[in-house]
Amino acid sequence: MAGLCVFADLDGSLFQTLPKCSGNALGTPVPAAEARDGSCNSFMTEGQELLFKALKAAGAVVPATARDLESFRRVKLPFTDGAILDFGGLILGPDGKADEEWLEGSASRARDAAPMLERALEISARASGKLRSDARARLVGDMGAVFYMVAKSPSRDLGALGLLKSELESELAGEARIWMNGNNLAVLPPFLDKGPAVARFMDRHLPWPRGETLALGLGDSASDLGFLELCDFRMFPSASQLGAGGPK
Ligand SMILES: [Mg+2]
Repeated sequence: MAGLCVFADLDGSLFQTLPKCSGNALGTPVPAAEARDGSCNSFMTEGQELLFKALKAAGAVVPATARDLESFRRVKLPFTDGAILDFGGLILGPDGKADEEWLEGSASRARDAAPMLERALEISARASGKLRSDARARLVGDMGAVFYMVAKSPSRDLGALGLLKSELESELAGEARIWMNGNNLAVLPPFLDKGPAVARFMDRHLPWPRGETLALGLGDSASDLGFLELCDFRMFPSASQLGAGGPK
């Protein structure tokens, strides 16, 4: 083996909001990412910081995240080995530049999916009104492409968010994949998945040939399974959707 590469989900795996740190016995939280207003809204426990430092010292660490470029730049951890953003829509190579060939393909497929995502927004607005939910939905993308929709409830009304998920599932059956993990509901076109993007990264951007690379995967959600399955070893936080025994 020439080297080790870790594909790591970020939110819920390497850091989380402060309330989610409180049930975790792994030490005092330290700042990990900022909100748009510059305040710190994501924290690593000492245990997560120790894990990150150990992985970084052992090899390459490549984030595989739903975050877009702007929110990825608000993460304070020193990533220098490339990144997979937007649920796989955008790949940055180790030089920090977009994988243009990959982006061309994903942006083209995202254009085809745009009407479905617009409908998802309309359904969300209508259902939130009907449910008296404060859930807010928005579209997320990069480089001129819109890749997916996300809805969150500022008051953490997860019951209403679950009902919104059911509404989206029945109205968009067969047209979208819908993930919910905590206060995070995402609607993705079927093509969008971290798995194929990690496969592409393994083919084109690894520092070493895949056959000589030990690939580790770290994730917390059902939406991470596609890329975890490509790795030689899989890790998840014990207190997570995957650690608790699988998707709910
Ligand atoms: Mg996560």
